[in-house]
Amino acid sequence: ELRNRIDKDLIREAKELLNNAVQISIIPHSGPDGDAIGSSLALYQYLQKKGRQCKIISPSAYPVFLNWLPRNSEVMVYTKDKKDADVYLKESNLIFMVDHNSFKRSGDLEGYLESCDTKKIMIDHHPEPEAKVDIMFSDITMCSTCELMFEFIEALGDLSMIDESIAECIYTGIVTDTGGLSYNSSQPRTYQIVGALLFRGIDKSKIHSNVYDNFSIDRMKLLGHCLDQGLEVLSEYQTAIIKLTKEDLKRFNYRDGDTEGFVNYPLSIRDIRVAVIFIEKDDMVKISFRSKGNVPINKLAREYFNGGGHMNAAGGRTNKKLDVAISKFKEVLPEFYQSLEL
Ligand code: 5GP
Ligand code: MN
Repeated sequence: ELRNRIDKDLIREAKELLNNAVQISIIPHSGPDGDAIGSSLALYQYLQKKGRQCKIISPSAYPVFLNWLPRNSEVMVYTKDKKDADVYLKESNLIFMVDHNSFKRSGDLEGYLESCDTKKIMIDHHPEPEAKVDIMFSDITMCSTCELMFEFIEALGDLSMIDESIAECIYTGIVTDTGGLSYNSSQPRTYQIVGALLFRGIDKSKIHSNVYDNFSIDRMKLLGHCLDQGLEVLSEYQTAIIKLTKEDLKRFNYRDGDTEGFVNYPLSIRDIRVAVIFIEKDDMVKISFRSKGNVPINKLAREYFNGGGHMNAAGGRTNKKLDVAISKFKEVLPEFYQSLEL
């Protein structure tokens, strides 16, 4: 049905917390993506319009292709601005936990968030929420936290406060979390919300262009190298693997976010259902998993690679060497593949 999907009782409780809060912190997940930063900036602008004192504290830096977002320069980055952020956070009496549902994904803020008794509201769309918070807006049927943020603001009775700038941020998260409205975006309500955002005057093509046609030359070459040198297709298991070594990243002057979206390319190979990218970092290997259809790749991420996520998009990591991580994946793949009902 084409109507707001927020629980009215929860909204009443949230209103009360909001009314009592003097200073508010908004925290996206570590290594924030378009949805995490988009939903944080939407909430930030909304709360400021309501005359509330608030700040976004991002646990870590994020891709340059998100720097064009309105009010981006006002985001505090914890790894760069630890002192000021610590003070602000300690003085806050309300914390919004945005686009993540476990403090394990709050980066260096994990310990503090876990132990502080500041009131917390979660706004998120990932399965199996595990963080202890006071109010949980958790809905896995939402394509993005940004979609949920729209519903949240509307449910608070403030639809009219969503201006073009807030709408831009919300649209960015919807687009980046669905691969440009390709996957995980089949609910009519999503398009009603997109319609409302367009009605606010957003320039859809400009946003797409800012997000997708924004590669540095190095980034484009890194992608080319990755697909050329790093691709391995395991046809038997309808799986394709790509990888990037530390040396690759160095050679192409890696910047935060440069590998965003690379994992989706192998999924375009005919008959491939699972794509994985292994990225060698200083102290670990970061792994991104993507799948098509009824292939719960988040299970594999959770069971074998200290991660999790959505059915068709998940992440994980390991302290093992790059080659060992890839071997381990190949080792567990046959059993996973056989367990699927294809
Ligand atoms: P990415 O591959 O872009 O890092 O992550 C893909 C999806 O999986 C995102 O929705 C992200 O939030 C989720 N994800 C990534 N890493 C983890 C993790 O360690 N735990 C959980 N629960 N989700 C993750
Ligand atoms: Mn998201």
